[in-house]
Amino acid sequence: MTLKIYNTLTRRKEEFVPLNPPTVRMYNCGPTVYDYFHIGNARNFVIIDVIRRYLRFNGYQVQFVQNITDIDDKIINKARAEGCTTEEIAQKYTRIYFEQADRLAIQRADSHPKATDHIPQMLTLISTLLDRDHAYVVDGDVFFRINSYTSYGALSGKNPDDLLEGARVEVDPRKENPLDFALWKASKEDEPSWESPWGAGRPGWHIECSVMAMEHLSKTIDIHSGGADLIFPHHENERAQSESATGEPFVRYWLHNGFLNINKEKMSKSLGNFFTIDQVLERYDPATVRLFLLSAHYRHPLDFSEENLQEAESACQRIIDCLVTIDKLINLWKANAQSEVTRTEPPSDLTARGQRFLEAFLEVMDDDFNTARAQSVIFDLVADINLQRKELPDVLPASLLDERYVTLAHCVKVLEELLSILGLQISGPPSVTHDDMTERLIALLIEIRSMARERKHWDIADTIRQRLQDMGIYLEDHPQGTIWKKQ
Ligand SMILES: [Zn+2]
Repeated sequence: MTLKIYNTLTRRKEEFVPLNPPTVRMYNCGPTVYDYFHIGNARNFVIIDVIRRYLRFNGYQVQFVQNITDIDDKIINKARAEGCTTEEIAQKYTRIYFEQADRLAIQRADSHPKATDHIPQMLTLISTLLDRDHAYVVDGDVFFRINSYTSYGALSGKNPDDLLEGARVEVDPRKENPLDFALWKASKEDEPSWESPWGAGRPGWHIECSVMAMEHLSKTIDIHSGGADLIFPHHENERAQSESATGEPFVRYWLHNGFLNINKEKMSKSLGNFFTIDQVLERYDPATVRLFLLSAHYRHPLDFSEENLQEAESACQRIIDCLVTIDKLINLWKANAQSEVTRTEPPSDLTARGQRFLEAFLEVMDDDFNTARAQSVIFDLVADINLQRKELPDVLPASLLDERYVTLAHCVKVLEELLSILGLQISGPPSVTHDDMTERLIALLIEIRSMARERKHWDIADTIRQRLQDMGIYLEDHPQGTIWKKQ
């Protein structure tokens, strides 16, 4: 089975063939940094994170770029409302974006370029479009001429004539075609601006992403992603201006996720029916939130409700319970299991059981990243691990080659690998890896330290405490005696 991805441009699932394998170049439209992001935005960030992890598991070298839009009407308005500069707003919410993304275990991109660091490149791209007659200047504004690009509307599946009819945009009489869009906007009073050959101004939103994708990846990238609300006009316009400038295909696979709904309406800032990720993380832990966000196929709508989050929470608890039960028992065998969990691992008699779950997981993930079904495979595996555990005696066998333990340990390794592909950081309590001997040696050191303290040999006592701490073992002195904890 090979990986298939639904391509918004062709409206079908296509076999995934990157331009220069094993490299995969991926670009995702990142946050506009003017506020806390909401859980609907988080859905996009988490899905892209899982796709990136999955591609890496499959041996691809993923180059991933996610931009930061740090100049925009919303940022300008927020700065005015708060009486500070646009830079201050952008810096504050960029920091908050990364803090929240880190909490959700979203791995940082290889590069997070900022729009305002790329003004010269934008000016160059706009000049190219003007030279090739794909754009025109009116009073310091530069517009893209959509009639010069025959494929306009192909990505969104919209016919320009229908768009014109349906367009409720205020028609700017200076435009040749009402659908022409701004590449460069002449600056208004009190707005940040940059010098350009057409006068002081600032870039349009669409040109930012074209420039940053091409600058940090390539003229043609493999995957470009975003929420479904970005298909039109943002991605349609990105595609038009990029391909008109380079004469090459801009993106091989356009990937868009569905909305997060609340009471059957799309969650959005403009409708005011949103929960910030901060509010959600106050009540649910990150793994629960991720499990919830991945509980539907990414292209389908997902309903945000207390009930659905609680369901994800108890599902998470099932995984934790499973890992806690096997934790102490199986660490020894896991450490001794020879093979890593990989796509191509040849199953032996002892690993065939775990391998079956891995293959089932890969099959559904290869089918356009069906995380909903991938979660079902994880829960089947959890149930199977619980069953195997129940059938084992409580007394550990002496031999590390005991088949039942080797099979169970391998299944646990597979489970951990699948959890990490979905970015679910779930673990039982800190694993108990010390054996009796370690325990007794630590007790002996504590005893020697007490003797040193009684004789006022503080240097010896402190050395013991410090050296143990260096190994992650913390001593706590109580009236009843000293106890130790591993961190
Ligand atoms: Zn974008």
